[in-house]
Amino acid sequence: MSDNDRVLIAGAGPVGCSAALYLAQRGIPVTLVEAAATLPEDLRASTFHPPTLDMLDDLGVVDQLLEQGIVCPEWQYRDTREGVIANWDLGVLKDDTRHPYRIQCEQYKLTRIIIAELAKMDNVDVRFRVRATGTSQDEHGVTLSVEGPEGPEDLKGKYLIAADGASSVIRITQGIEFPGLTFPELWLCTSTEFKFEDHFEDLAPIAYIADPDFWFVFVRVPGLWRLLLPSRVGETAESLVTDETVQERMHQVCPKTGDYDTFHRTAYSVHQRVAETYRKGRVFLAGDAAHINNPLGGMGMNGGIHDAVNLSKKLVKVWNGEADDRVLDLYDAQRRPIAVDYVQKTTIRNKQMLEETDPDARKAKHDEMRAMVADPAKAREYLLQSSMITTLSEAEKIG
Ligand SMILES: Cc1cc2nc3c(=O)[nH]c(=O)nc-3n(C[C@H](O)[C@H](O)[C@H](O)COP(=O)(O)OP(=O)(O)OC[C@H]3O[C@@H](n4cnc5c(N)ncnc54)[C@H](O)[C@@H]3O)c2cc1C
Repeated sequence: MSDNDRVLIAGAGPVGCSAALYLAQRGIPVTLVEAAATLPEDLRASTFHPPTLDMLDDLGVVDQLLEQGIVCPEWQYRDTREGVIANWDLGVLKDDTRHPYRIQCEQYKLTRIIIAELAKMDNVDVRFRVRATGTSQDEHGVTLSVEGPEGPEDLKGKYLIAADGASSVIRITQGIEFPGLTFPELWLCTSTEFKFEDHFEDLAPIAYIADPDFWFVFVRVPGLWRLLLPSRVGETAESLVTDETVQERMHQVCPKTGDYDTFHRTAYSVHQRVAETYRKGRVFLAGDAAHINNPLGGMGMNGGIHDAVNLSKKLVKVWNGEADDRVLDLYDAQRRPIAVDYVQKTTIRNKQMLEETDPDARKAKHDEMRAMVADPAKAREYLLQSSMITTLSEAEKIG
């Protein structure tokens, strides 16, 4: 084996970590570089959908995720005035997945679990504090330029997976466009130990609350409720995370005596963008480097892990001589349309539904949702889509 007989991966988020584990478990040497000194523990994804759990099960890490998360067989769509509109029971997917539920667990717990697994394997080289700065390639391999504690270095490999997040240096330096939009308003994410379940009747661990003036989302993670709230026009990231604003918004969600305790608070810009291609020769974009969307529906990380598994499967086939290089084009052909045609449209629609101001349109949407929940075949169809199972079966047909 020559020095460059390995796959290089930039970014130890959930996507880079999943790809590294998949490849390493199948005997492919991997170098994974992460710019941060330790695994980032920011307030981001917490919802793992059923097919993602099936994939993580195949990687041998789902039991550890289950131990550290909350099993949620149901999620809700509510309205501030009408209460529960739809209680979605994922149990109807029992014949479609080994995990007919969502797991609520912080994404950094998954990356911690995977990094610990990678540390046990001798064909994996994980390097923290090493930042990818650019890449070049020829017919034999790819070079990843990095900057680490020892200065600049060129790493060699056969292929490179760019899982370096939304601001991907690799996507930018490869000149791959990232068209789409950025919402004008910021979003605030905050967490608290306050027991909202004592104040909202029958509150499910994941609940999307529609309101024409002030929609919001409840998500449960172990020990905490997270709240996701939109900002008002003109609010800045700094003004949004002040005590005054955070308390005012949380009291708008649920008035109470005294201040809320809060554990985190973060203001985010929210984008809807898809890269114009997921492949440039030996370089592949995956996860947020390839597509970003608003978090309503929990599709960013889940879709990214689906990218990682789809791409890694194909790399294994090519590596083992079971398929030629052309199979790698299928990665873009199968995964990119899902981001463009399903994830972008669905997440934008989810936002529009929550903030709908026209009373007739709101009523029509609520009636439609109530009718779907009441009809088992329609409910299953809806949950196959919202759990991202349909996107995977549709992708399988492209080949
Ligand atoms: C509030 C919020 C809630 C969300 N909730 C959900 C949810 O419930 N479900 C869901 O599916 N998605 C959710 N998402 C989206 C989800 O967080 C992202 O889609 C997910 O983190 C993407 O994973 P990734 O590995 O592609 O990128 P990241 O998680 O961004 O990881 C990229 C990694 O690359 C590293 N890196 C960056 N640049 C370099 C470089 N040059 N060299 C080396 N390393 C580099 C970074 O430090 C980071 O560790 C949410 C997002 C937000 C903001």
